[in-house]
Amino acid sequence: MKTGSWKKRLFACFIFLLGLYVLWLGTILLRQRARREIPAAKRPSTHEVQGVYHIHTTFSDGRQPPEKVVAAASRQHLDFIILTDHGNPNRASLAGQGWKENVLVLAGSELSVSRGHLVALDFRPPDGTFAQNAEEAVQEVAAEGGFTVIAHPFSKTRWSWGGFTGYAGLEIADSDSMIKQNFWRAIPYLPALLLSPRIFLLKTLERPSQTLRKWDEMAAKQAVYGYFSADAHLAYETLFSCFRLHVLLGEPLAAEFERARAQVFNSLRRGAFYCAVDSARPAGGFIFWAERQRSHFPMGSTVPLAPSSRMQFRAEAAFPFAVQTCLLRDGEVVLRSEGPDISFSSGRPGVYRVEICLRGGSPLARDFPWIISNPIFIREDGL
Ligand SMILES: [Zn+2]
Ligand SMILES: [Zn+2]
Repeated sequence: MKTGSWKKRLFACFIFLLGLYVLWLGTILLRQRARREIPAAKRPSTHEVQGVYHIHTTFSDGRQPPEKVVAAASRQHLDFIILTDHGNPNRASLAGQGWKENVLVLAGSELSVSRGHLVALDFRPPDGTFAQNAEEAVQEVAAEGGFTVIAHPFSKTRWSWGGFTGYAGLEIADSDSMIKQNFWRAIPYLPALLLSPRIFLLKTLERPSQTLRKWDEMAAKQAVYGYFSADAHLAYETLFSCFRLHVLLGEPLAAEFERARAQVFNSLRRGAFYCAVDSARPAGGFIFWAERQRSHFPMGSTVPLAPSSRMQFRAEAAFPFAVQTCLLRDGEVVLRSEGPDISFSSGRPGVYRVEICLRGGSPLARDFPWIISNPIFIREDGL
């Protein structure tokens, strides 16, 4: 009898705890479902397009053929995608560029070079292959009109650093590595994988402190831009909702393919873009710039410091939810503001960039920046 009642109590206890767990998870999912309906912020006059960078298809080790990847991008209303199939270069992927299902499909190649994985973009396909040596490959890609981004520097194929500084960018966070490294963090949300995979994905995100530190260190010496990378091999639609690049153009995206391709790549080369976790909240409409007298310097600019003059750094957006905005100089927070708008005056050189964190019931980890801007570089020597 005694054993029976003990078992009954244990069972009742288990059911109670299970009930609490289901209630907790259910509340999280329902809350996020309701928040999804929040409209995107009103856009300022810049012409912003949203897309996803670093995608694999069946042209290399991705699970889906390009047509299905494009269909997923179209369902997510992306303006562009950048395929980066492995290869040296991946000619099949390059040949498939164009406007498809209202999505601008661009392609580069992920090269396996001596220091790790290097993404080459916007190059003319060479007659042969690019060098295996990283520094030579960067120069050869540049000779074909292209530029390069260091892929997943601290995970998977780790980048081995050297003194060379000719890279145009580096990936500051990639979802593939986050899922693999932090799967355990998201285990309590495992059932969400079936109902709302994006919530599960958000729970695997952890502030990429090491990569951000390295980026700040590199940026102190050269203009180098930060990329959120999907590194998508499967679950394309979920990944497309998550890590996006918001690219700011000088004019609306052209209907003609070559023109549109040049517009997106030219903005990426200039650092005129910011990274955002759009599945946590829609992040469109953010702008960050510096001004001096009547001159404006957009995100990505390198500005020589004029003697005894001050720069005004400004950020603006109209997000209808709570955010905390930080302005960083050389990786240190110099201004923290509740709300998206900031204005900060400084006469000091340095690398200035913005991080915005969500507040109030966000599904995103508190310390994972929802938006990371590209920097404005204020140089004493103007380099
Ligand atoms: Zn890789
Ligand atoms: Zn990859």
